[in-house]
Amino acid sequence: MASKSQHNASKTKSLNGKAESQGQWGRAWEVDWFSLASIIFLLLFAPFIVYYFIMACDQYSCSLTTPALDIATGRASLADIWAKTPPVTAKAAQLYTLWVSFQVLLYSWLPDFCHKFLPGYVGGVQEGAITPAGVVNKYEVNGLQAWLITHLLWFLNAYLLTWFSPTIIFDNWIPLLWCANILGYAVSTFAMIKGYLFPTNAEDCKFTGNFFYNFMMGIEFNPRIGKWFDFKLFFNGRPGIVAWTLINLSFAAKQQELYGHVTNSMILVNILQAIYVLDFFWNETWYLKTIDICHDHFGWYLGWGDCVWLPYLYTLQGLYLVYHPVHLSTPNAVGILLLGLVGYYIFRMTNHQKDLFRRTDGRCLIWGKKPKAIECSYTSADGQKHRTKLLVSGFWGVARHFNYTGDLMGSLAYCLACGGGHLLPYFYIIYMTILLTHRCLRDEHRCANKYGRDWERYTAAVPYRLLPGIF
Ligand code: NDP
Repeated sequence: MASKSQHNASKTKSLNGKAESQGQWGRAWEVDWFSLASIIFLLLFAPFIVYYFIMACDQYSCSLTTPALDIATGRASLADIWAKTPPVTAKAAQLYTLWVSFQVLLYSWLPDFCHKFLPGYVGGVQEGAITPAGVVNKYEVNGLQAWLITHLLWFLNAYLLTWFSPTIIFDNWIPLLWCANILGYAVSTFAMIKGYLFPTNAEDCKFTGNFFYNFMMGIEFNPRIGKWFDFKLFFNGRPGIVAWTLINLSFAAKQQELYGHVTNSMILVNILQAIYVLDFFWNETWYLKTIDICHDHFGWYLGWGDCVWLPYLYTLQGLYLVYHPVHLSTPNAVGILLLGLVGYYIFRMTNHQKDLFRRTDGRCLIWGKKPKAIECSYTSADGQKHRTKLLVSGFWGVARHFNYTGDLMGSLAYCLACGGGHLLPYFYIIYMTILLTHRCLRDEHRCANKYGRDWERYTAAVPYRLLPGIF
């Protein structure tokens, strides 16, 4: 009932232009045809896109074009390809259940102790950003601890206990894909039903009246079970991101098993991606203030995306290197490492500058100087006026999303580590460019609605989004 009345409230607001533009942020209230068509396309085809990539590696040595050509020319049929695809197995189902249950356990039952002894690390109970309805949620930030324990156990097993082979993930890669899909769809469906029937906070739900859009982009802003189990924080970080580095380690172990050594390209991919993952967990508290947590509702986009898209497509470089053990020359390896590290530095420093600026309310130094800012005001759904500032110094004065630029440089480095033999490992940089450009536009649309004239003053002061002088 509560959700129904919220639905009506949202309609009234969307008819009142001012209230809608100033009072709301997050995903759309009304769905245009293009968005609807894109959503239906993704709901129908995204699982097949993931399957196509993984199957191409399994059956066609990672060639993206050969399967399509084989089907087009009649050399193979869909039925042939499907017949060669490993089905879900009891072993994979057990493995996956154990994996997710273990991560749930680490997330829900083990309060953070890392912040007690790691200098500079912020973990334990932390507050998120204020929601559109004016709620401030508390989170138990213990992702770094979960990552450390999981990896400690992984290495203990690999070098001491030998309960299972470190190649276990690679060896069950396709059967595990089916399990990940089952969880991804189950959690998104549950989130949808929960949004209608028993939302955690009815005031923070959004109903567009379009079933597909609601399913994909989510209804509830912060669905929770009990006081602490937060769907967004759990699914965004674990099991997908904790798994990312384990998956890479399993691919490295497979290379060792197949060729008797691990290539420098595989080591580079493992190191660069591990830096990114560790950075994510080290900064999990900061992450509570990013778009995923602050603005996105929890639906299929996050639920299925975190269970399937992320662990399967973000790890394509390592998978590719199992089939193609690329040996990089020393200058190439050093160049790629530098690109990855510089990209990471820009990504981290840009994020850090905004975080520092917002935390200290501008009372800090950026590049050795007092930062310049634009004063802004906005109104939340409860009608309250708030004031904030937009930074125009440091990397935020170079471009409006220079953190994305750094992220893209790092992403390019992973792909370049795979050499130039195939397109498949370059999917990541293509996808990230589309994702971050779209995210940039989506975020700016939201900020323009939220801040109105103040946002125009900001875009006049910092005219470019990603690359000064170009875009
Ligand atoms: P940002 O961290 O850039 O956050 C954008 C928000 O910051 C805006 O909505 C606005 O929020 C605020 N803001 C914008 N400009 C300014 C400014 N000049 N000064 C102060 N605040 C400002 O974006 P994301 O949350 O998208 O990304 C966080 C990081 O995560 C990025 O580095 C990105 O590269 C990475 N990322 C990685 C992905 C992956 O799949 N690997 C996917 C997505 C992101 P407010 O309403 O508070 O003003």
